[in-house]
Amino acid sequence: MNPIEQNQALFPDPNCPARPRYARSAEDLPAPIVPYSTIIEMECDVCGGDGRNHDVQDDYEPCEHCIDGKVAVLRNWLVEAQQIEAGQLTTTELRREHLTALHHYVQTVVNVYNSEHSTSKEKTAA
Ligand SMILES: [Zn+2]
Repeated sequence: MNPIEQNQALFPDPNCPARPRYARSAEDLPAPIVPYSTIIEMECDVCGGDGRNHDVQDDYEPCEHCIDGKVAVLRNWLVEAQQIEAGQLTTTELRREHLTALHHYVQTVVNVYNSEHSTSKEKTAA
C-alpha cells in the first residue's frame, strides 16, 4: 500500500451514502472523524423543535426522540461534499463544514504526494 492509499484508508469511505445519523444525544452516535465528520445539533423533526410529545394532548410529555427539541446528528461532510459536487445531493445546504472537510482532504493528499516525491528524490541522490 503506497502512502496515498494508506491515507485514503483513514478517510470515510467516499462511496458510502452520505446519510446523516440521528440520535437523542451525541453519546448514542459513533465517534466522528474530525473534520471529515462531526456531530451537530439539529431541530427535532418529530416535535418541531419544542421538545413536547404532541400525541399527548392534556399533559406535558417530553418528546421521545429528542432532548429539549434538539437531536444529535452525525454528518459525513466529506462524502456529502463529494455528492453535492456530483449533483447527487440537490437539497442539502452547502455549509462551511463541507469546505473544511474538502480542504483538509486535499491538503493531506498533497502532503502525502510531496513527501513521497521528496523521498524518491532522496533515493535518486543516494
Ligand atoms: Zn422532539
